[in-house]
Amino acid sequence: MQTYVIPFNKPFIAGRELEHITEAVAAGKLSGNGAFTKRCQVWFEERYGFGKCLLTTSCTDALEMAAMLTGVGPGDEVIMPSYTFVSTALAFVRQGAKIVFADSGARHPNLDASRLEELVTERTKVIVPVHYAGCACDMDAIMGIADRHGLKVVEDAAQAVDSWHVGKDGKKRALGSIGHLGCFSFHETKNIIAGEGGMLAVNDPSLARRAEIIWEKGTNRAEFFRGEVNKYGWVDIGSSFLPSELTAAFLWGQLEHLDAIQAKRKRLWELYREELSGAPRDDFALPEIPPWATNNAHCFYLVCRDLDTRTRLIARLKAQGILAVFHYLPLHSSPFFADKHDGRALPNCDRYADTLVRLPLYYELGEDDVRRICRIVLE
Ligand SMILES: *Cc1c(COP(=O)(O)O)cnc(C)c1O
Repeated sequence: MQTYVIPFNKPFIAGRELEHITEAVAAGKLSGNGAFTKRCQVWFEERYGFGKCLLTTSCTDALEMAAMLTGVGPGDEVIMPSYTFVSTALAFVRQGAKIVFADSGARHPNLDASRLEELVTERTKVIVPVHYAGCACDMDAIMGIADRHGLKVVEDAAQAVDSWHVGKDGKKRALGSIGHLGCFSFHETKNIIAGEGGMLAVNDPSLARRAEIIWEKGTNRAEFFRGEVNKYGWVDIGSSFLPSELTAAFLWGQLEHLDAIQAKRKRLWELYREELSGAPRDDFALPEIPPWATNNAHCFYLVCRDLDTRTRLIARLKAQGILAVFHYLPLHSSPFFADKHDGRALPNCDRYADTLVRLPLYYELGEDDVRRICRIVLE
């Protein structure tokens, strides 16, 4: 395995994460739903206006909980972009639903909301917008379609912590707070990390009680510990979706420094943009932030002219010890899904899969590192 002078990502300690873990151990409660878990959940609810928040062991888990809560099953259709991570689709496939993949926009990897309604049928139950790079999908359009057709909206906000959507009504809403359910990731490659970790925001109050039961292995244990029922037992489907207090203690150490982490990432992101904005535009395009979106500096990417340009760029960076990566392989033509897809071409998705490259961006990346990377890109 090659070691890189500048890796693509590097997990980091922001402050008192290790002290908090020590405190959790000393308190003698390491299983889930303890003091640190509650502290993190309340912090998110208060800061971003989310409905009930439940920490999970990953965003994949949060998506699985969301899929269960929407009640989808065989015969139901769920619309989502093909240009996304496997987990977005997997959660709904496991419930037996049929996935209808949408294309990305011409100028942004997010799903093309202007062509979303033509995918809605009698059987559609859920839309899953994915806020790529933490950049808001056109939520006015998506929520409008959902309202007209009585659909649930599950936001895949895995990359979208601390990012916002500004609606036509002028209201600024945190991503993950707009749909009925919002799913977040604290995987070590995201802005705020806990190793593996995630969270479900339950914005539709009618789903809150069931969410807690699904979270606690299909039992009403949480209600029992609050003294609301005098015994607890098996009342529904569910699984073990709670992270341990060790994970929550680490996460709390990150949340205490969220503003500093975000400020640092945004500085690096802006530096990339400044350094590369003078480049000839036919070789690559810089990320575009739509007027309704904010930038949370989750990732800095380039859209290259073609696959060959991208391959050469990645090789050139690699030769200098710098790891740049691409993703996603389109889900509609994946080995698992190709024979289930309805045959529609998704040209924008395919183009991003071939031409998008992500440059290193992490908390401890230096400004000199960014300048150095940009010099090589410009060459
Ligand atoms: C990272 C990511 C996930 C999965 O998150 P995990 O916490 O690793 O399960 C899901 N969807 C998107 C868009 C992601 O970027």
